[in-house]
Amino acid sequence: MFLGLARGLIYTIYNLPLKITWNLGGGHAAAGEQSRSSGLAMFGNPVAPSWGNRPQEKRRMRTYRIAAIPGDGIGAEVIAAGIEVLDACAKRDGFGLAFDRFDWGSERYKKTGAFMPENGRDLIRNHDAVLFGSAGAPDVADHITLWGLRLAICQPFDQYANVRPTRILPGITSPLRNVSGPELDWVIVRENSEGEYAGVGGRVHRGLPEEVATDVSMFTRAGVTRIMRFAFDLARSRPRKLLTVVTKSNAQRHGMVMWDEIAAEVARGYTDVTWDKMLVDAMTMRMTLRPQTLDTIVATNLHADILSDLAAALAGSLGIAPTANLNPEREFPSMFEPIHGSAFDITGKGIANPIGTFWSGVLMLEHLGEPAAAARLMRAIERVTANKSLHTPDLGGNATTAQVTKAVCDALAGDNR
Ligand code: ATP
Repeated sequence: MFLGLARGLIYTIYNLPLKITWNLGGGHAAAGEQSRSSGLAMFGNPVAPSWGNRPQEKRRMRTYRIAAIPGDGIGAEVIAAGIEVLDACAKRDGFGLAFDRFDWGSERYKKTGAFMPENGRDLIRNHDAVLFGSAGAPDVADHITLWGLRLAICQPFDQYANVRPTRILPGITSPLRNVSGPELDWVIVRENSEGEYAGVGGRVHRGLPEEVATDVSMFTRAGVTRIMRFAFDLARSRPRKLLTVVTKSNAQRHGMVMWDEIAAEVARGYTDVTWDKMLVDAMTMRMTLRPQTLDTIVATNLHADILSDLAAALAGSLGIAPTANLNPEREFPSMFEPIHGSAFDITGKGIANPIGTFWSGVLMLEHLGEPAAAARLMRAIERVTANKSLHTPDLGGNATTAQVTKAVCDALAGDNR
């Protein structure tokens, strides 16, 4: 009987239609008013999306509550810059952003033994979105930081779709010879709830010769199905309708074989999407040597983690790359953050590149249902990156975080489209 119930549950989950829904009205006032997103809009693409026709008058009055968690290292600097720019954006487009700041991070952990309070998630559960900086300190082990803060939010809030757009912005030079810009326009979809980061495993007989440690990759049919559907939906919404499924099923003959099988099953419902399969090792070569053959990419938690750092480097700098951790069903707030880490080598010097945070802000505005503001912010970012005198040192320039932030605010103010 138990088996029957379990099968029934799995069947139900598996057959739930994945709705990538976006709250047109956003905020608390617009519950129930949803529409399918344009993938073009989602990722800072300058093509104007279609968002329905909610009266502008109602939009003007809305205020979104944002939980800001700067975290560690340059997190504080880039989130402060992000709030300044997002505030300017909101003023320009006639809506409100109310930021609640949380001092969660490694300093708190060192003082109290916890990165966030016990009821931390309850404190942010009803916010419209989370804006996150970075987690990581030189004197705290990386796995403690990651599990204590970032994953402690992403996993319980079921932000299972981690979405990472990569483009070469105007004025930025890719380290790839012969790649000037248009050849590299990708969106990486990272499975963000299970796989290699499921946290399953253990360690026994510590320090003894017979010590054993395991990390088990967990792949569930429900988890793989929903991320495949998300990726196919996203690929379908982009002009090329092209998806590459990254795998390692030659070596990992259980979870990864199921991953491939489910990709093929889901693909049957998307006959308009062209898709192919690529081993993760071969994928690194393809990204480097034939970037123009890729568009939307879906990969496991670990594979996409690695590939998206490569993608960020190929697009010019880790400091530019944005991320959305989405709970597509909107049962929990989604979280937006730059890809980069705490960057202790430059912390406090005022030279952190804030563009990754600004671009994450674009994704957040799109998610909130403010496409005009999102498009305006993306135009402002691109106007600023196009000016090499406004490049921070990671891009080979001398500009400071404050100068880039002011330039983006000025560009917002001067954009009368
Ligand atoms: P984590 O483990 O926390 O993800 P990491 O060790 O992978 O961090 P980062 O802390 O992101 O890496 O830093 C890698 C390098 O990139 C560092 O030299 C850092 O200074 C640089 N870097 C990262 N982000 C930025 C940024 N926003 N602006 C300028 N340089 C950056």
